[in-house]
Amino acid sequence: MVRVRFAPSPTGPLHIGGVRTALYNYLFAKKMGGKFILRIEDTDRNRFVPGAEEYIIEALNWFGLETDEDPVKGGPFGPYRQSERKELYKQYALKMLEDGNAYYAFDSAEDLERMREEAKENGKHVAKYDASVRMQMKNSLSLSVEETESLLTKGENIVMRLKIPADRRIGFEDVVRNDVSFDSKELDDKVILKGDGMPTYHLANIVDDHLMEITHVIRGEEWLSSTAHHILMYEFMGWVPPKFVHLPLILKPVGQGKLSKRDGAKFGFPVFPLEWEGEETFSGFREDGFDSDAVKNFLAFLGWNPGTEQEIFSSSELIESFSLEKIVKAGARFDIDKARWYNQQYIIAKDNSEIGEIVSPLLKNANFTYPNEAFLHGFIELMKERVESYNDFAKKGYYFFEQPIIEDEKIARKKWKDENEVHFKALEEQLRTSEEFDPDTVQNIIKTYIAENALSFGAILPILRIAISGTMKGPDIFGMMSLIGQEESIKRLRSGVQKIKTL
Ligand code: GLU
Repeated sequence: MVRVRFAPSPTGPLHIGGVRTALYNYLFAKKMGGKFILRIEDTDRNRFVPGAEEYIIEALNWFGLETDEDPVKGGPFGPYRQSERKELYKQYALKMLEDGNAYYAFDSAEDLERMREEAKENGKHVAKYDASVRMQMKNSLSLSVEETESLLTKGENIVMRLKIPADRRIGFEDVVRNDVSFDSKELDDKVILKGDGMPTYHLANIVDDHLMEITHVIRGEEWLSSTAHHILMYEFMGWVPPKFVHLPLILKPVGQGKLSKRDGAKFGFPVFPLEWEGEETFSGFREDGFDSDAVKNFLAFLGWNPGTEQEIFSSSELIESFSLEKIVKAGARFDIDKARWYNQQYIIAKDNSEIGEIVSPLLKNANFTYPNEAFLHGFIELMKERVESYNDFAKKGYYFFEQPIIEDEKIARKKWKDENEVHFKALEEQLRTSEEFDPDTVQNIIKTYIAENALSFGAILPILRIAISGTMKGPDIFGMMSLIGQEESIKRLRSGVQKIKTL
């Protein structure tokens, strides 16, 4: 039985890369008929941010990544919040201590600072608490039993550290990267238990993955080097490690390096699923008018592809096609244009009434009113191929609700001919006397008038269009006029012509 977990730390809003990790875990669990677990890794109380857990859950809900076990609904392996499992970890740390695979250390902040200074003086790139300095530091390996006892009683600066063997290759099989190995010289004696009895991420993570019977650890590449520590701990505990799957980095849209949380503001697009207001404020895909399924589809392709030409995948198609073997090694570039393209495709394909549910509160926010549902759906039908986001409906289609501003002044000026004014007057009259005002009727009136008066389309339609919507880029003019109605169309035609004439 496949059991996978998404294990975020509630240190702030969940970055879009975290959502991708959750998504891949979810897709794999569903594909294999396994379980998808949410575990909150909140042992670092200094970095805990109120609201972050709620944000994570809300984001998963928005994407429809339903969990089988989590801190709220519980499950057979709970609790699923590490702070609520605090008492459980110590025994495993003590076991490693007894077996000589861990030790107590008592170094103060100054001691550690001195160690770093010395490393620098000795020309070392990174200062590590490891086999090379261990015996010069203050710990249960370098001190006598009596000194250790007395420091333990004193109770200051006590931590437990992992004793990394001096000269070993630590290898493991990663599903994406195949054989991975680290020289133990590259690793430091990581703290596994802190003075307050709280485990660090490393200890809590492997204990929980073991106790929760996790079969596959699917996480970001940044955890690859920690995996060597984890593999050692599994070995120390005599446990079989899960399979590891490290997902490729998500890269900045341009230039080097991985996408950072501040790139959103820098490049003008969201890198978080939902808006976040805290010490820092971030925009979200949801508030920017993205469809959650579109973003999901986009994220699925950020580091995976099915090896075919197909790009649009429904949620169930994603589950069906997903496989760990098709995850790519190379970093995936974050291409917001692609996200926008997906969004467009999803909006076009969506039911007008479903779009209506999302768009109607947005129209309300903009103080745009409309007579009925039929108007809303008609508006959506006309606009859906012209928007990139849900927000665009109100933004680009504002003229369905209020007087247009003449955006395309230049074109209006160019197309205006004084001698056509009589025709607009006559057309206005024809429109007024029509008994029907459906798109075909409107079209018929206008086209017939043009033909009967031997005019060109170019003499009438651009001016009409600009009078009605202010722009040449709007949707079908006849549909638009029919929707805003006879009275409003006539009013706009008249006042539009007056305005255009004087440009
Ligand atoms: N708590 C870690 C994080 O915040 C989890 C890493 C892992 O999946 O092991 O990403």
